Amino acid sequence: MRIDAVTIFPGYLAALDLSLIGRARREGIIDLRVHDLRDFTHDRHRTVDDTPYGGGAGMVMKAQPWREALTHVLDSDDGRSGPAPVLLVPGPGGERFTQASARELAKAPWLAFACGRYEGIDERVYEWATERMEVRVVSLGDYVLNGGEVAVLAMVEAIGRLLPGVVGNAESLVEESHEGGLLEYPIYTKPATWDGGDGVERVVPEVLLGGNHAAIADWRHQQRLERTAARRPDLLHDAATTGGLADLDHAVATPADAAELAVLQKACWIEMVAPVENWWGAPAEDADTVAADLEHWSTHVFRSGGRLVGSVRVRRDPTEPRTWQIGRLMVVPDLQGRGLGRELLALAESLAPPDVDTYWLNTGADQQRLLRIYRKAGYRISGEGEGPGTVDLTRRA
Ligand code: SAM
Repeated sequence: MRIDAVTIFPGYLAALDLSLIGRARREGIIDLRVHDLRDFTHDRHRTVDDTPYGGGAGMVMKAQPWREALTHVLDSDDGRSGPAPVLLVPGPGGERFTQASARELAKAPWLAFACGRYEGIDERVYEWATERMEVRVVSLGDYVLNGGEVAVLAMVEAIGRLLPGVVGNAESLVEESHEGGLLEYPIYTKPATWDGGDGVERVVPEVLLGGNHAAIADWRHQQRLERTAARRPDLLHDAATTGGLADLDHAVATPADAAELAVLQKACWIEMVAPVENWWGAPAEDADTVAADLEHWSTHVFRSGGRLVGSVRVRRDPTEPRTWQIGRLMVVPDLQGRGLGRELLALAESLAPPDVDTYWLNTGADQQRLLRIYRKAGYRISGEGEGPGTVDLTRRA
């Protein structure tokens, strides 16, 4: 991703050289270019502001340096970053920047930030820029900062960490606060019993020590709900109340969904990867492999508040045209156990053309929970699968 930031304090953004974002820059995942607005002034004092028309307190940023700086950004690209960037202008009067915005913006190949100072930027700059690129005014929250730089630091970090390869452990992205509209559950590390020096022994909740993954998932989901209800009741919307597929936004996947689909695979199948290493290869797929598969399958994606929460793919068997193949049926861990998987399966079957006589799917031979679900839905094991340790299941259409 290419990112340009125009500011009168380039040094403010030096923090983006540190930590994971700094590493992503060095590895070429993020191409961040910081521009000094004062380089686009032509007077001795490098003036970027002037008094407001109509009177009032404070100064306003002049249009001319902004036009030149943004023209420089636009012209510096010889088509390599694709179409013009999305221009993000931080401002307390903008749309609220959320995890859903970060996810959406992480798909853009090129972002530009215009950091305001003083009372803000001459309104005509917005008009001028809107004729050349998509412009969005974005607010970090309902409070006033001195300038846009802090907002750029926050947004670049929130967006950048969603880019494939920036955060090493992709599963951690799925479990976090605001993913699925809920806050994160409480977390603990060793030792299991800790004396804080006040004579009180504080212990880690029993359930986390037992290794019962289903019980841990239940406990964590309950904790997320309780914590969200206590601290942010305004967030208790779709994730907590998702009743079924009808509550989700449905679309056919495009290559832009590939990175999220790869993360969803890992989140759904992480427990399977551990005991049976790569038992069908799927959990190890990267975004490129997922994108390549999109050409051979019709992949359906389901979103809640912008977040990818489920998916399934279907196609006619290339060698047995009357067989309808169903694959990669996934529901995010925090929404499992609500019947969404069964609904996805029914939807996948309903997409079959009328001349199909068999539904087919494949799973790990040791996946008792999945096998139970498929058996309940009428599927029977028809033989060993192609991948080692897998079985094929079929049902008459
Ligand atoms: N006069 C402006 C208003 O009332 O909307 C506030 C200007 S503020 C002092 C200066 C700059 O700080 C803004 O142009 C913007 O770049 C940045 N800024 C302030 N609060 C912000 C927020 N909540 N989110 C994002 N940027 C903010």
